Amino acid sequence: MIFAWSRSWHQNPDLLLREVRELGVTDVFLLLTDYDGAYYRSSLWTKRDLSLEIKRLTSALAEEGVRVHAWITPMRTTRAEKRLYMVNRLGQSIYDDPPYIETYKFLCPNRAETLSIAESLLREAAGLAEFYGVHLGYLQYPELPLEKPLAEGLYVRYDPKYDYCYCEACRAKFKAETERELFDEPKDVALRWRAKALAGFASALAQRARRLGFKAVSAHVHPGPQYAHTAAGQTWWEWGLDFYVVTAYRSNWGGDLGWVKRVALESAQLGRVAIGVRIAELSPGEAAQLSEVRGRVLGISLFQLPYGGIPQWLIRDLSTWA
Ligand SMILES: [Zn+2]
Repeated sequence: MIFAWSRSWHQNPDLLLREVRELGVTDVFLLLTDYDGAYYRSSLWTKRDLSLEIKRLTSALAEEGVRVHAWITPMRTTRAEKRLYMVNRLGQSIYDDPPYIETYKFLCPNRAETLSIAESLLREAAGLAEFYGVHLGYLQYPELPLEKPLAEGLYVRYDPKYDYCYCEACRAKFKAETERELFDEPKDVALRWRAKALAGFASALAQRARRLGFKAVSAHVHPGPQYAHTAAGQTWWEWGLDFYVVTAYRSNWGGDLGWVKRVALESAQLGRVAIGVRIAELSPGEAAQLSEVRGRVLGISLFQLPYGGIPQWLIRDLSTWA
């Protein structure tokens, strides 16, 4: 299978269709919501109302036999009420003091309201067009910082500023479950507990998505199971989704093509995964070399279309994945 994320589909839907055809893409993840709102008239936060365009594009892709997945990002938003946001170990709300970049703001998965928001987005997506599946983005805690150098093992450095979440809801829930204080727990216990909270949230979303008629529920997750767990709280193999796309982006995390392959194989031991790559990072022959693992993984996923000027070698390389 050949997957493709499409974040900027609205800039040129016709080009997206053409490139999907050229590359033999089987599944498209179509971005419906972003950190600053939805691309349709949402009951929550509307950025632009492109409902008609979404309907038209989804039908056109489906007519070509392409499966279209509604791609939503329910935890990452800049527009919810401040009290719903994650709080770090120093007591700072991510709403006021986001790590890395200004828009890196996440809702706490232990809040019932976060699940209601996510449910609304799922329901709205189901009513918007004929989507085959739903693709969940940014189900994570902000990453603990990486040790230098990047690549290879992706070792993380513990820093309380990047350690989320210690909001009132999390502390109360931890106390109710264990009769202990979350603040007093050793770091590894707190990290495991937050991963459990995220797994519960993801599983609840998957259940609701299936009830709404989505035939496949997937998510993009961080590369390498150990790193995904320690840095971002993602024990995705416990989420119960249909498949996962591992974002093995060399420009984000370092590493070479061998690392991408290793990450794919390690992850494939724990669940059904596709390997995610940035088109701009690929050199001629690399996508074909990666297809050596194709019996073990579900497919390859490209970030992102429309790309503009797809090279002929990429079309040739991807044919090894068809
Ligand atoms: Zn919390």
